[in-house]
Amino acid sequence: MDRFSIVVGDITGSDAEAIVNAANTTLLGGSGVDGAIHAAAGPALLAECRTLGGCETGRAKLTAGYRLRAKYVIHTPGPIWHGGDRGEPALLASCYRSCLELAEERGIRTLDFCSISTGVYGYPLPLAATVALRAIMDFLADHPLPERVRMVCHTEAAAEIYRQTWNLWYAADKDHRL
Ligand code: ADP
Repeated sequence: MDRFSIVVGDITGSDAEAIVNAANTTLLGGSGVDGAIHAAAGPALLAECRTLGGCETGRAKLTAGYRLRAKYVIHTPGPIWHGGDRGEPALLASCYRSCLELAEERGIRTLDFCSISTGVYGYPLPLAATVALRAIMDFLADHPLPERVRMVCHTEAAAEIYRQTWNLWYAADKDHRL
């Protein structure tokens, strides 16, 4: 799948047309990647977010990117991990799908995800990676947009878990391993 890749980096410096923010339901900023995106985008981002009236877990809303290189930010509140029996996998899959649908609707060609829910929200990374990759790959299989999707991991260790998960589910043979 040449439309998808796993990279290591800081999503606030992304050159994609849109980046995904692992937000909370208030959409008014928070810690982790949310705080970093708001700091890099500047106060106008928070001002636009205030007009949105929050967002339900598993849904997504789009704003401009302001001082970011990315033209848009797609904000999605991921589920808080409570052990896995409170609908977390379905909600996490819904986050990815909602972001991809919104990107497609807006004609966005390049989209960068961060690893939703795997920081403060405590979703175990290997489980989150399985859900994330399945949601992304299922969507790309029958939608021409976005043309390019990347998972931007903050650490090499996280990227390695995503690569291993990819290899487990999507590499048909060793020539296709990441
Ligand atoms: P959540 O509340 O959804 O768990 P966090 O921001 O705490 O959100 O973490 C989500 C993921 O984003 C974590 O895997 C964390 O390592 C990663 N992350 C934190 N800062 C950045 C950044 N600047 N760029 C990319 N990923 C980041």
